[in-house]
Amino acid sequence: MTAAWLALGGNVGDSRTILDRAVTLLCDGKEVRLTARSSDYRTPPWGFKYQPPFINLCIAVETALAPSDLLARAQDVELQLGRDRAHEKRWGPRTADIDIIAYGDLAVHELDLTVPHPRLFERAFVLLPLAEIAPDLVITGRSVREAAAGVDPAGIERLPPRQGM
Ligand code: ATP
Ligand code: CA
Ligand code: CA
Repeated sequence: MTAAWLALGGNVGDSRTILDRAVTLLCDGKEVRLTARSSDYRTPPWGFKYQPPFINLCIAVETALAPSDLLARAQDVELQLGRDRAHEKRWGPRTADIDIIAYGDLAVHELDLTVPHPRLFERAFVLLPLAEIAPDLVITGRSVREAAAGVDPAGIERLPPRQGM
């Protein structure tokens, strides 16, 4: 088993419920075991600004899957949750987006997979939830705690757990 960290986000539909479902579908307790989950965060859109706010969160898992299989599984979950890649714009609205942030301390440079995630350190909406569950994690020589302290948290709101969850 290898430790991996993933970032989830969405802004179409009931995002908190959809992303809960994404975590459940992704983490079957066998090939992918959930070890930590951040709070949900409400975050301003990034890249393409004219769209509703996102819900973002990060999870830590232990996985038996190779990075490419973990990506395939994440994309399968996105599809199950109604993601429609053919009709969406880059960084635009989507029901569920699941990115692999880091996979052990492995570096992957393939056509369809780059790990650690190349835009990780620009993104407060990834670093803040990640710092909640993995402050001591070091990715390409940079501490997640320090990286999170160095980004602009403007507009990002950590949400309390939902009633009954
Ligand atoms: P961004 O990667 O900037 O967050 P995005 O999540 O909106 O953008 P998608 O349309 O979801 O981009 O994915 C485009 C492609 O990115 C995927 O088909 C996948 O092959 C590739 N990809 C490369 N590296 C990763 C990664 N670490 N995690 C998830 N997908 C990745
Ligand atoms: Ca993404
Ligand atoms: Ca993605």
